[in-house]
Amino acid sequence: MYTVPKLDDYSPAALDAAVRELLVALDSESKAVSNESDWKNLRDRWMARKSGILTQINDLWLKAAPAPAKREVGQRVNQLKSRVEQIIDAAQGRLKAARPLESQRLDITLPGIRRPIGAEHPVIKALNEIVSVFKAMGYSVSEGPEIETDYYNFEALNFPPNHPARDTQDTLFIAGQQSKPLRDRLLLRTHTSPVQIRTMEKLAPPIRVVIPGKVHRNDAPDASHSPMFHQVEGLAVDTNITFCDLKGTLDHAMKALFGSSVRTRFQPSFFPFTEPSAEVAISCIFCGGKGCRTCKQGGWIELLGCGMVDPNVFEFVRNNGYDPAKVSGFAFGMGADRIALLKYGVDDIQLFFQGDVRFLAQFA
Ligand SMILES: [Zn+2]
Repeated sequence: MYTVPKLDDYSPAALDAAVRELLVALDSESKAVSNESDWKNLRDRWMARKSGILTQINDLWLKAAPAPAKREVGQRVNQLKSRVEQIIDAAQGRLKAARPLESQRLDITLPGIRRPIGAEHPVIKALNEIVSVFKAMGYSVSEGPEIETDYYNFEALNFPPNHPARDTQDTLFIAGQQSKPLRDRLLLRTHTSPVQIRTMEKLAPPIRVVIPGKVHRNDAPDASHSPMFHQVEGLAVDTNITFCDLKGTLDHAMKALFGSSVRTRFQPSFFPFTEPSAEVAISCIFCGGKGCRTCKQGGWIELLGCGMVDPNVFEFVRNNGYDPAKVSGFAFGMGADRIALLKYGVDDIQLFFQGDVRFLAQFA
């Protein structure tokens, strides 16, 4: 540690040597500064007004100097003052430059901040799973608008105006459409089937598409009904497509979705846009077909509708290569919400749409 010596020799050479010694000492002390309090100690030790080293030099060197040497000593003491200030300022500058690193220091032992990430909604999960089963069979995906015209939702699907089949789909109409011709009036689509027509207008046969999406009907909400729900529709058109292709495709899809032991049952039904039409049931996945509460003791669960595309539907897209004498096809539709209810063992469809994270988090 540097202490200020008393001077006996006031010759310029001796003064220079004393100054050099002091600066060497200050230099090494300033290099040892590693934090703010070190630096304050250094500054006080050298520059404190009362007893700092510069003050001591003033007393021991300048005031003690004999009159003839005062000029030489005074010059050096003044130079020393500014030099010491410079060195001490520089030490503070080095500290400031090092500080950003200090503030960026990371304590990896601190507990982390948990950021909950989103997950697929169970209905979307079921939709995606259904779509992927058909993708694996070479189907592509089509989508269409949720607000549809009467033409696509009904007319082109062989629901003529005033046909009683329209009443089976409790339709929500958009207000203020009365001045338009019936086929142009807007409604919330009651099924994803209008996308069949939209797809056939765009793509010539052969086609194989699945159409997932949201649909709306004026149904009062209860455990198995919701005014908004989801369907996956399918359409395959080519030459020589038969009912056997339809049965094989759906049987495979149901086994892929619910397990290889599941059996399918086709029963005659009616849809305006397919002929013949069928309701498909799967053997109950809970009791294996023996009969339980879920299948109402019947052993079967009705799950989807299907059929061979009605030639009248092809007439609407005949100009795009769908000559009913040359092509044939099948279509099917299933409720994704209902499949999600069965797959995940949920007993109330309302739970899917109430947005309760405690419920939804179980499927993450
Ligand atoms: Zn059962």
